[in-house]
Amino acid sequence: MDKKSHYRVIILGSGAAGLTAAIYAARANLKPLVIEGSQPGGQLTITGSQPGGQLTITTDVENYPGFPKGIMGPDLMEEFKKQAVRFGTETLFGEVTSVNLKQRPFQVTVGKETYTCDTLIIASGATAKLLGIESEMKLMGHGVSACATCDGFFFKDRELVVVGGGDTAMEEATFLTKFATKVTIVHRRDKLRASKIMQDRAEKNPKISFVWDTVVEEVYGDPKAGGVTGVRFKNVKTGKTEDFKCDGLFIAIGHEPNSKLFVGQLELNPSGYILTHDGTKTNISGVFACGDVQDHVYRQAVTAAGTGCMAAIDAERFLEEAGPKVIKLQRLVKIEHGERSENRQGNDFLSDLQLSDAQLRIADPVGRHLQQVLEQRNPPARDRGHVPLPIAHVS
Ligand code: NDP
Repeated sequence: MDKKSHYRVIILGSGAAGLTAAIYAARANLKPLVIEGSQPGGQLTITGSQPGGQLTITTDVENYPGFPKGIMGPDLMEEFKKQAVRFGTETLFGEVTSVNLKQRPFQVTVGKETYTCDTLIIASGATAKLLGIESEMKLMGHGVSACATCDGFFFKDRELVVVGGGDTAMEEATFLTKFATKVTIVHRRDKLRASKIMQDRAEKNPKISFVWDTVVEEVYGDPKAGGVTGVRFKNVKTGKTEDFKCDGLFIAIGHEPNSKLFVGQLELNPSGYILTHDGTKTNISGVFACGDVQDHVYRQAVTAAGTGCMAAIDAERFLEEAGPKVIKLQRLVKIEHGERSENRQGNDFLSDLQLSDAQLRIADPVGRHLQQVLEQRNPPARDRGHVPLPIAHVS
């Protein structure tokens, strides 16, 4: 089917968050477009290196409600997708190369094509950092994991290695001792980066031991014959290598949110996660973020799905609230903007539409005209003695 060029909702990302947003948006008759990335099933490849989403590198998922016998990660994502398509979602494979949120409708470029949308839902995920060795990928889901909450249960009475020296490594190692008989934390330095409380907790745990100044050079095992059997350590100070027997390897060296495309356009925290408020709203009205690209705390399929649902509802409400007048205004002003200097005409045009302040704010990025109208209606706050509400992105 040929793609339209304009959508009311475009969703970036086809993991649990993006596809849940699609199910809800489609059932609200918004006919969304999901841009899946060039590696479907999860995070977009907008960082350039993502080898698929968390669930597509997981085998059994046993903690997603509704599947008492568990389900394979890729199968779960396929079911999500079928459900979204059933209600009218369009999907597109491709890498998003740029996004322009500074004008309305928003523009999303995929290769040579540019699509526009009235609302954008960002569900581009976060990528678990990996060691970058071939055997790690070969055994991913077969003893190698980047998520203890997801996979710890499979390692009852086993011996495990956790790589990393931050809070995630401490937390995952501590969590894994619920199942494993022994957990060895391997850190590339002799000093942990983790917070004191998390270090103390790990150090006091009798099942946890540490190997310092050491990296994992190789993972041993056969994905078809029981998975991981051990790893090769290399001491970075002495260069000495050692084979170490274990049944599983958990990589806990951090995550990177797939948010590079939004730098300079959306507010991000210092680690690059998109900042959201009042549900899934970002600092630009009409742009919503859900799933791991805005959540560095929970990072679960079910929480991602939950925020995907929220984002779709927020987008639907935004479109209802903004209404056709605002959408029309945004397009008209955009078209006229280049030709028109600042004059009364702009203000008259806005007055004719009789928009409320709230609707004007929704239409905010289109230009100084809106700011002038709002300021005329509501004198600047400094004249009234309190702090003004910021009007985002006035060009
Ligand atoms: P961090 O960036 O804090 O730590 C990553 C760790 O992995 C570091 O020790 C780093 O080593 C090591 N590392 C990085 N790359 C490699 C590599 N290629 N090979 C070997 N080791 C590597 O990430 P976290 O995920 O631990 O934490 C992220 C944020 O989330 C932090 O702010 C943390 O406090 C927070 N967090 C909080 C939790 C809580 O409060 N419950 C739980 C989990 C995370 P080096 O130290 O040498 O750089």
